[in-house]
Amino acid sequence: MSSTKLTISTLSGKLLHVSAISTNPLINDYCNKMAALDGTTCSICYARRYLSTFRKNAVPAYTRNTKILLTGKLTEDNFKKNSFFVGQHVRFLAYGELVNATMFKNFCKIAEMHPYITATMWTKRLDIVEPLIQEVPENMRLIYSTLMIDPPEDVATTIPEGFTGVFNVYSNEYAVKHGVDINCSGSCATCLKCYTQDNIVVRELIKQKLGNENRRYTDVKTRQDVMPLE
Ligand code: SF4
Repeated sequence: MSSTKLTISTLSGKLLHVSAISTNPLINDYCNKMAALDGTTCSICYARRYLSTFRKNAVPAYTRNTKILLTGKLTEDNFKKNSFFVGQHVRFLAYGELVNATMFKNFCKIAEMHPYITATMWTKRLDIVEPLIQEVPENMRLIYSTLMIDPPEDVATTIPEGFTGVFNVYSNEYAVKHGVDINCSGSCATCLKCYTQDNIVVRELIKQKLGNENRRYTDVKTRQDVMPLE
């Protein structure tokens, strides 16, 4: 009997060089807890909003990914043949956040199993990652997402040990008042800074509109053809 397959999301056409492995933040206790706190980036999380509205159809696949990554050890059987290609950039946790050490180790395993890709993970969970930092393979990059909107400069510019960068989110008001240099367009496929550069401090504005489709998260379309049939 074959194992349940992970759902890999990809861009189409000339942007095919970026793909993503997402999980479901709506069933993640950490996400739910932080989303309830005012002033956190989780409280304005695009992934949660999209999965609750016009991207509801991705919930089953991302829930399945969560379950696969939380249980047991991954094998080749969890991947459709040719899931990735040489030189591909893969975003870990385009939607969702780490749940525990098992999930993190499984993401490390995915990078190890596919040494010809470059994987980049965004996470706030230093409590999970830092004790396991020695296990991160060479082709896996870590971007620390700061928790609060409008972080003070010392927080915004501190890159944790073993990470390649830090990602911050600002309100329009704060950015104008403090002259924040916004350097994230939200269109990863044409930017790739987080996927290719080291020691980066990234600053993004809160998106004002729900459903700004030509942006970071929604650039990535879930490929139904790699979804497992149960
Ligand atoms: S648009 Fe560029 S800077 Fe912003 S998250 Fe994507 S790769 Fe990083």
